[in-house]
Amino acid sequence: MFDIAVIGAGPAGYSAAINARKRGKTVVVIGQNTGWLTRAESIENYPGMPGVSGAQMLEAMSAQALALGAQLRPGVVHQIIPMGESFAMSLGADFIEAQRVILCTGARQPRLLPGEEKLLGRGVSYCGTCDGMLYRGKRVAVVAQGPEAVNEANFLAGLCQSVSYFGRADDALDSRIEVRSEKVERILGDAHASGLCAGGEEMPFDGVFIFREAMALSSLIAGVETDGAFIRVDRQMRTSLPGVFAAGDCTGLPLQVAKAVGEGCIAALAAAQELG
Ligand SMILES: Cc1cc2nc3c(=O)[nH]c(=O)nc-3n(C[C@H](O)[C@H](O)[C@H](O)COP(=O)(O)OP(=O)(O)OC[C@H]3O[C@@H](n4cnc5c(N)ncnc54)[C@H](O)[C@@H]3O)c2cc1C
Repeated sequence: MFDIAVIGAGPAGYSAAINARKRGKTVVVIGQNTGWLTRAESIENYPGMPGVSGAQMLEAMSAQALALGAQLRPGVVHQIIPMGESFAMSLGADFIEAQRVILCTGARQPRLLPGEEKLLGRGVSYCGTCDGMLYRGKRVAVVAQGPEAVNEANFLAGLCQSVSYFGRADDALDSRIEVRSEKVERILGDAHASGLCAGGEEMPFDGVFIFREAMALSSLIAGVETDGAFIRVDRQMRTSLPGVFAAGDCTGLPLQVAKAVGEGCIAALAAAQELG
C-alpha cells in the first residue's frame, strides 16, 4: 500500500510526486512519459530553463522524482475504486492500493464511442491481459488509440481465432493480426457487444478491445464533480471525493506547465498533511 498514488506522468504528476517524497510519503506515479508536453519543441515561459524542449523537461522531472524515491508504474489506470480508508487502482491485471489519490490526468479526455459505455464489461474491454481468456478461439477487434495497443493486440493474437486491428500499421504487430484502416464509428450490440461499425460498414466480432492513453473521467472514477470538462477543486486541490485530489490541466485553464507544477505541489502537501 502506498501513501499516495499519482495518476498521470506529466508535470503536475511529477511535481506532486517530488513534493510528496519531500514530506516522506511513499508515492507511485502511474503513467508514461508520452504526455502532451513531449510535443512542445521549445518552452520559453517556464522560469529558469528557457528554450528547453518538452521531452527534456519531462525527462528531468521524471529523473528527479525517481531519484527522490518515487516509483513509476507505466500503463493506464482503468478504474479507481474507493475502499473505505484507501483506493484500489486497476492497472492491466494488477491492482495498486494507496491511501490518497492525486489525479494529474491532463486536459485530453478521450471521446467515448457510441455504445461503448453501455457495453463495457459485456463484450467491450479495456484490458487484454485481464479479459483475453474470455475470447479464446473467438474473433476480436482492437481499437488502437494508445501506445499499449500493439502489445495487447499481440497478446490477443496468441489466444484468439482472429484479431482485427483498427489503427496505424506497426512493424511490431504480430503477423497474424489483420490491420484495418477504417475509422471506428460505434460499437454494435444490445445486451452484449456484437461487433462494430467502421467506415460505414457493420462488422461482427465476439469482443471489442479499446486501448487508449487516458480514460474518460466518468469511467476512471465515479462521483467526482466537474465544471464543464474540468475537475472541480478547492484551493487545496481537493475534489468533491474525500481523499482524492486533482492538479494540472485536468482542473482548468490556463493549460501551462507552471500552473500544473504549482498545483501538483499544493495537492501533494495537502494530501501529506491529511495523512499526518
Ligand atoms: C505542442 C504543445 C506546446 C506547449 N507549449 C507549452 C509552453 O511553451 N509552455 C507551457 O507552459 N505549456 C505548454 N504546453 C502545455 C503543457 O504541455 C501542459 O500545460 C502541461 O503538460 C500540463 O501538465 P499535466 O501534468 O497537467 O498534464 P499532461 O502533461 O497532459 O500529463 C497528463 C498525463 O496523464 C496521462 N493520463 C491520463 N489519464 C491517465 C490514466 N487513466 N492512467 C495513466 N495515465 C493517464 C496522460 O497520458 C498524460 O501523460 C504545450 C502543450 C502542447 C501540446
